[in-house]
Amino acid sequence: MANLELSPHCPEIKGVQDECAVVGVFSTISKPVAEIALEGLIELNHRGQESSGIAIVGENGIQVVKDSGLAEIVFKIKHNLPDTPGASVAVGHDRYSTSGSLSDMQPFSDGNIAFAHNGNLTNIKQLKARFNLPDEIDGAKSDTRMALAVINSLRGTEKERILQTLPLFEGSYCFVFGTKDSLYASRDPRGFKPLVIGKIKDDGYVVASETAALRSMGASFLREVEAGETIQIDKYGLKTIAFAGKNEKLSRCIFELVYFSRPDSVVFGIPVMEFRKRQGEILARHLPDVDVVSSVPRSGIGAALGVVTAEIARISRITPIPVEAFYPNPYRNVAENGPRTFILPNGRDKAATQKYSVIETSVKGKRILLVDDSIVRGSMRRIVQILRSHGAIEVHALIASPSLRNSCYYGADFGDGELLAHEIPDLEERRRYLGLDSLYHLSYAELLEAVLGNPVENVAESFEKNGFCGACFTGKYPTSTGGEINKKEVQICEK
Ligand code: SF4
Repeated sequence: MANLELSPHCPEIKGVQDECAVVGVFSTISKPVAEIALEGLIELNHRGQESSGIAIVGENGIQVVKDSGLAEIVFKIKHNLPDTPGASVAVGHDRYSTSGSLSDMQPFSDGNIAFAHNGNLTNIKQLKARFNLPDEIDGAKSDTRMALAVINSLRGTEKERILQTLPLFEGSYCFVFGTKDSLYASRDPRGFKPLVIGKIKDDGYVVASETAALRSMGASFLREVEAGETIQIDKYGLKTIAFAGKNEKLSRCIFELVYFSRPDSVVFGIPVMEFRKRQGEILARHLPDVDVVSSVPRSGIGAALGVVTAEIARISRITPIPVEAFYPNPYRNVAENGPRTFILPNGRDKAATQKYSVIETSVKGKRILLVDDSIVRGSMRRIVQILRSHGAIEVHALIASPSLRNSCYYGADFGDGELLAHEIPDLEERRRYLGLDSLYHLSYAELLEAVLGNPVENVAESFEKNGFCGACFTGKYPTSTGGEINKKEVQICEK
């Protein structure tokens, strides 16, 4: 290999997205709670871009403002922030729609409780039947709206109803509840999704889906909300008020580290950037003979994949020459859905083609290696075509995760029918379909090695043994999936 060049900017070419971000604020001094919540939502927009909302809870009730678009567009262009004098509690939400309509934008409110959710409840059908709930409430059909209806079906104070209801829910959840006096936050017993607590100096606390939101919210990292834990924050401080599922095994979503989370976050105690560098180091063991290495980031993780490619070059003892293979036009298609229009449910290829321009001198006559975190729906085929049409003589791919074959029932928006590796299980056939000269995915063992920092046994059970969910790779779901799973369709793979 000679004259290896690094290209840190290739277009985003896939469409998987997490199901949202949540924030919560309890503050009496610093600044209006809605402003603090907005800061968090802006920092977490990579987790959901279709709508953003904030509910504040004051003496005179709950005010909710929510609309489609990025948090900044919703609250700096379309609407004013909710404003209730004396409000000390705010709940915020960024949403990516996996189902439902704009009626399912969050937070929801029942008049006494403001409520936001990240995750997916797998037994909501059963709960709807048990509590005799309608199919929709004010146009909303989501599991989150139904969960609030379940809470409202019970008697007692807001706190009592929340605590009685939590053990009923199955699946993945990070809940944030706001009441007149208190902020509550709860994480499911398996800890599928991340949720952290930050401390505002000489003031209250915030909670957020990722640590990356804390600095802008004026808070410093305190700790995670533990799996199964429910906390209450009020004028007396922070306390744990329930601890469920101590005997449950952890099933932390490994895809949070691979893709969803920001590279500057610390997720499940693991610095995401360090994890992704380790992925790159391991991928470098499989480096083909190429001239140019180009990461394929989504906008939030470009820097991370730049480091990955740098690590590949370092291990290969090649001096990298940074080049860009593509110029992503940041001014195109930002009006409603922001800079990541390629994650729109429809028209991703068209959006990518419009938005990204190839820098031909970086590509023409070159053997190019694409480094990506995962292959979801197979839009890489389009990017390979673009590279070849601009004169690339070879296009190879190293993928920093195993083949993604199975639906997620815990909050990510991919169904198995949309997954390329599900549709084309054979790796060699997939390589041909994508038009690549070579294709390598990290094995289960290599991915876990990147997570743990040590080599592990080469068995799929290692995900569970180490407290992670890897079901979208392995097909081995850690919980009931609410009867939705079609076992014939699940691809259980040992690798
Ligand atoms: Fe995460 Fe995949 Fe498990 Fe869903 S199935 S929680 S995306 S690891």
